[in-house]
Amino acid sequence: MAETADAVVIGGGIHGTNIAFHLARRGVKKVVLLEKTAIASAASGKTGGLIGSHFGTEIKVRLGVKALETWLNFSEVYGTKASPYDRCGRVWLVPEADVAAMRGIVEMQREFGSSARMLSPEELREIVPQIALDDVAGIAYEPDAGVADGFAATNAVAEAARRLGAEIRVGIAARAIAVSSGRVVGVQTDAGEISAPLVFNAANAWAPQLLKPLGVQVPVEPARAQIALFRRPADYGPRPPGIADFVQANYVRDHPGEILFVGGMDPLQEQHVPDPDTYPETADWDVVQSHRDHMWRRFPVMRRSVFRGGYSGIYDMSPDLHPVIDRVPGAEGLFVNCGYSGDGFKYAPIVGQLLVEWALDGRPSLDLSELRLNRFEQGALISGRYKYSASGWYR
Ligand SMILES: Cc1cc2nc3c(=O)[nH]c(=O)nc-3n(C[C@H](O)[C@H](O)[C@H](O)COP(=O)(O)OP(=O)(O)OC[C@H]3O[C@@H](n4cnc5c(N)ncnc54)[C@H](O)[C@@H]3O)c2cc1C
Repeated sequence: MAETADAVVIGGGIHGTNIAFHLARRGVKKVVLLEKTAIASAASGKTGGLIGSHFGTEIKVRLGVKALETWLNFSEVYGTKASPYDRCGRVWLVPEADVAAMRGIVEMQREFGSSARMLSPEELREIVPQIALDDVAGIAYEPDAGVADGFAATNAVAEAARRLGAEIRVGIAARAIAVSSGRVVGVQTDAGEISAPLVFNAANAWAPQLLKPLGVQVPVEPARAQIALFRRPADYGPRPPGIADFVQANYVRDHPGEILFVGGMDPLQEQHVPDPDTYPETADWDVVQSHRDHMWRRFPVMRRSVFRGGYSGIYDMSPDLHPVIDRVPGAEGLFVNCGYSGDGFKYAPIVGQLLVEWALDGRPSLDLSELRLNRFEQGALISGRYKYSASGWYR
């Protein structure tokens, strides 16, 4: 006879672990999380971990602001001794052409409760005196924003879910989602069947392939994002906040071990790959050089840095660079959460909470209808209220 559970979560990344945590926190008795490889083995373990709310669309700003409340109180919310969240602040840099859009975004952030504000070059140099700003015309700053170690955070959330009674099963893959008479009835796994009235597909780049056999198309495709790591010289100066540089279309953050972590800012420039299970996990030298040259320009002192390696991870790209967070049509009790297109780490605490509200209370406390699955076939792609010239996120 099949095992039974009250809810099954597929995927042990930051999203799946948060869903399991919120289910257990709300008192759902038997919650089973299935992770095929290891907790945080995919995007969540490789993420830049930049957290904040500076985006061109209202939905991302609202989710970013709400999620930040949890990141700031990580230890209390998840009951951990230490927090993986580093409130180092975030800075966004734009060229002249994007200054008006930046002011609009900052206003929108503030409208939804963010501490964001515009900074003058002099004010930014008080925080990071070693930064070169000759090509920068606009600076936004969000002091409460910051960075988190993705691997540590995801494992901490998984552990918090486990403490509340959720079963975290690592090394067990979901093979198929079972649906009968318009309702989800369970999941077939490597280790047998689990009957459950609630199933959450948080398998990120793998999510579409689990829904395809049900006749549900999710237009989310994997892309390979590359990052590079550089050891800072001894006289580098103060640790920088997380910097999103739209002049050069790349980002820089502080990383443990006196290292700067550098990645690309435009998800549309990342390389599409056919299969999220087999892609080169290293970084290509031409990409490393491009990241290095951008970093050198912004931080001339980094010309004396030491290259310490690079790697690639997978983005789950959707056609409008916004996630799909929805009930799956024709399968009552089945939810999908994927397609973040390279910026989904930060939202996980609030999205987990909202999905669980939706499943248990009938609707989430923040309207997610814009992120519905059928927006693609309806031609209702999400478009930013404010747009930046140098990033797909803002086009
Ligand atoms: C290089 C890089 C930098 C990034 N930088 C940032 C950033 O600075 N800020 C930000 O907010 N976001 C960033 N992102 C995006 C962010 O990391 C992701 O959106 C987020 O981690 C996705 O979390 P997830 O839980 O949805 O997916 P994942 O972490 O990918 O987890 C999905 C899990 O599902 C498992 N799985 C798949 N299929 C099955 C199955 N059939 N059965 C069981 N388990 C299965 C996988 O093994 C995997 O562990 C970055 C991503 C990358 C790759």
